[in-house]
Amino acid sequence: MDTQVWLSLGSNLGDRKGQLQFAVAELAAHPQIRLGRKSGIYQTAPWGNVQEQDDFYNAVAEIFTTLTPWELLKELQKIEAAAGRRRIVHWGARELDIDILLFGEAHIATGELQVPHPYIQDRLFVLQPLSEIAGDMDIPDKGNLQLIINNLQGQQRVEKICDAEDW
Ligand code: ADP
Ligand code: MG
Repeated sequence: MDTQVWLSLGSNLGDRKGQLQFAVAELAAHPQIRLGRKSGIYQTAPWGNVQEQDDFYNAVAEIFTTLTPWELLKELQKIEAAAGRRRIVHWGARELDIDILLFGEAHIATGELQVPHPYIQDRLFVLQPLSEIAGDMDIPDKGNLQLIINNLQGQQRVEKICDAEDW
């Protein structure tokens, strides 16, 4: 059975839009992944106290997959690696970061994988593109999506720079 999964995509190094396009193309090409909707691209300030980085380009994609959460995580890490990501600085600049936001109704709390994503409720750059394509929803363990967005509004600079059709 296919599980509906929400992914966040981010890039702040190199050809940022190209890297997001690469991620979506790789996901679509995977035999056990079907691509659903994708959001527009949002430009956001870097997360964490890391200086001298470019802004991030962020987007959210919906996929349907027969993979387990751990199998999917491995596939995402392969795509990140293929995009040339070097794991040097935590929260540092990266060509491509793909995180699992929600995996069906799954609750996972292992060292390797936490679902729902532990920071989803703090990150307007994830919540805003998610609400663009998912509409309003209740995020398991976290609360109502639109309410969380309203509470964060104005605290983080998140600017939509292109529509879903334009990338
Ligand atoms: P970031 O926290 O900025 O996404 P990384 O991409 O380097 O940092 O991820 C670090 C680790 O986070 C990964 O090796 C992975 O095992 C773990 N992780 C835990 N939960 C998730 C999730 N929901 N999606 C993706 N990675 C996750
Ligand atoms: Mg990640």
